[in-house]
Amino acid sequence: MATKPTIGVLALQGDFAEHITALRKLKLPCLEVRTIADIKKTTGLIMPGGESTTIGKLLVSTGLDAWLKTHVKKGYTIYGTCAGAILLSQLGLINITVKRNAYGRQLDSFDEPIQSKAFPKLRGVFIRAPLFTTIGKGVTVLATHDGDPVLVQQGKILAGSFHPELTDNLAVHRYFATLAK
Ligand code: GLN
Repeated sequence: MATKPTIGVLALQGDFAEHITALRKLKLPCLEVRTIADIKKTTGLIMPGGESTTIGKLLVSTGLDAWLKTHVKKGYTIYGTCAGAILLSQLGLINITVKRNAYGRQLDSFDEPIQSKAFPKLRGVFIRAPLFTTIGKGVTVLATHDGDPVLVQQGKILAGSFHPELTDNLAVHRYFATLAK
């Protein structure tokens, strides 16, 4: 396992390039992760938005799903956004259930303020976002939109249904980096 804090961004499909740009803006060491050899150089992983079915299949074919199941249980830090959050739930890595594409058709994509004591002035960019339908034991809600949880934490695991990497407010990435130290 890496000793120097380095954040990996899962780069199999989806908006990984935007997360790399966000991390570089924050001057945080980061790298694209496609293999087990890559992930071993990291202290935490961002799973980006994209198409959760496709990313899920690629996680299996690369063996990264098994690696994550073992290491997240041992305290490896991970942040799933949108499709990444769906995958965290499907892999059983966080105690929430999600409903894919849960926002109505006219609201396929939208950008609205979200409510959070931890992260003031956060905007939520939602793109065919999942709804977090059940928040299980041990999971804390860090932000909501219209009363629905949109950012949650369980230990060193973060899941968000929106895309802070597409805004100027990178407070969630900064917070994630403190968890991945
Ligand atoms: N709708 C996508 C899915 O279900 C997630 C959308 C996103 O990541 N922006 O996989």
